[in-house]
Amino acid sequence: MPTFEYAPAPESRAVVTIEKSYGLFIDGTFTRPKALFDTINPADESVLAQVTQAGPRDVDKAVAAARRAFDGEWGALSGAERGKYLFRIARILQERAREFAVLETLDNGKPIKETRDVDVPVAAAHFFYHAGWADKLEHAGLTPSGGPLPRPHGVVAQVIPWNFPLLMLAWKIAPALATGNTVVLKPAETTPLSALLFAQVCQQAGLPAGVVNILTGDGRTGQALVEHPDVDKIAFTGSTEVGKAIARSIAGTTKKATLELGGKAANVVFDDAPIDQAIEGIVNGIFFNQGQVCCAGSRLLVQENVHDQVVAKLKRRLETLRVGDPLDKNSDLGAINSRAQLERITRLVDIGVAQGAQRWSPECSLPATGFWFPPTVLTGVAQTHRVATEEIFGPVLSVLTFRTPAEAVAKANNTPYGLSAGVWTEKGSRILWMADQLKAGVVWANTFNRFDPTSPFGGYKESGYGREGGRQGLAAYVTTSPRTPSSTTGDTR
Ligand code: NAD
Repeated sequence: MPTFEYAPAPESRAVVTIEKSYGLFIDGTFTRPKALFDTINPADESVLAQVTQAGPRDVDKAVAAARRAFDGEWGALSGAERGKYLFRIARILQERAREFAVLETLDNGKPIKETRDVDVPVAAAHFFYHAGWADKLEHAGLTPSGGPLPRPHGVVAQVIPWNFPLLMLAWKIAPALATGNTVVLKPAETTPLSALLFAQVCQQAGLPAGVVNILTGDGRTGQALVEHPDVDKIAFTGSTEVGKAIARSIAGTTKKATLELGGKAANVVFDDAPIDQAIEGIVNGIFFNQGQVCCAGSRLLVQENVHDQVVAKLKRRLETLRVGDPLDKNSDLGAINSRAQLERITRLVDIGVAQGAQRWSPECSLPATGFWFPPTVLTGVAQTHRVATEEIFGPVLSVLTFRTPAEAVAKANNTPYGLSAGVWTEKGSRILWMADQLKAGVVWANTFNRFDPTSPFGGYKESGYGREGGRQGLAAYVTTSPRTPSSTTGDTR
């Protein structure tokens, strides 16, 4: 297979080998590439590679391979043996961290300092964390003492988005394998490369064939996968619109599902907050990964008497951000992942201005090619504005004000979503009260966008259901119903 070598900027010493074209990873081997489509570097629109659009027959083959592995070698393994594979995968991710970081930055457009310091190490941490659970599931509190042992569902279909391709893969595959399931995973169509590199890691780790299968393709592949009759459980992360379609499609079946969907988080700053610290939290909350984060602090709710001070300091801080080459370790913001996403951001910001918001961005020169959007602050936003209600999924902060804590809670909860929220105040009692009042799956206090495999993550309302991470995340991958005569494999001990 012809390959080309991408020599990254000198500061990232890894050399990533990208194939010209990729097949699918089914039953432990790569198929011949066919029905190809391009995956591009959003920072300069160059073609990185071509990948296969998996069709319904490929989905059949991948699900059949996962079923064979579940009914065979993998299902017969003890938890301790499964754990060894997860530890091995975690260590290989660490050893190949630079390769993954550069590849992810190329395919996604996010800055190398984020893939290097967050995406890859946290992905490895998820495998380490879940490796530790593999032989301790009966002690995870998933069943009452003396009750049936937790058992895996079987074949799990996993569909993930483009904003954290490797990290979302780790959030999905690590708990599924730790609990004894087998997996067919579909990465997003614009960011398939890290999942294909992960397939090589599975080979390197000696993972039995069929335990992990990777199918590239667009929404049609995802739909065929989640609707496949031999899939036992679905784990989906993506838009609320597609999540609802999946929920409809499995109604009346025995399939289990967890849905991690969109968000419109409030980041609430009280007048007693440590303002300089809060400014850092606001910046991290909305400009991390160019704001293409489901839990991004996209609505800043600031107490009216400190509004002008906070906005002035925020603007000064934004003038120091560097937007540019994602492979440059000094870049704070990289490229937007796709032309379609850039168009969506642009359209919503224009609507915000037309509805009365004031738009501000620091002076920055954006590259001539690729998909770029400057860090943007919209002030004077009203709750009825679309930029206050819809997920923009870009580097755009909508600023609203409040006078009292009760008003802050009412405005923060005035959204169909309920994924995350932030609170900035020096009063511990207020933090606890706010955490109790806010309808959000995650509430950060005097910090934002902290991720840890031991912490459950997930939403309320239109942000979906089910949790990932922590003991709660394990629960989604096991059944605690009594064993039936046909379910003789997959004991999680
Ligand atoms: P998307 O829903 O368009 O696509 C997500 C994945 O679903 C992709 O792999 C896509 O190919 C696939 N897909 C599309 N149509 C499908 C169908 N009918 N059946 C099955 N699969 C289908 O979302 P996106 O644009 O890739 O990602 C952005 C969205 O993801 C945002 O709304 C964001 O908030 C959300 N997200 C949520 C979380 C979370 O944990 N809650 C994390 C990251 C992203």
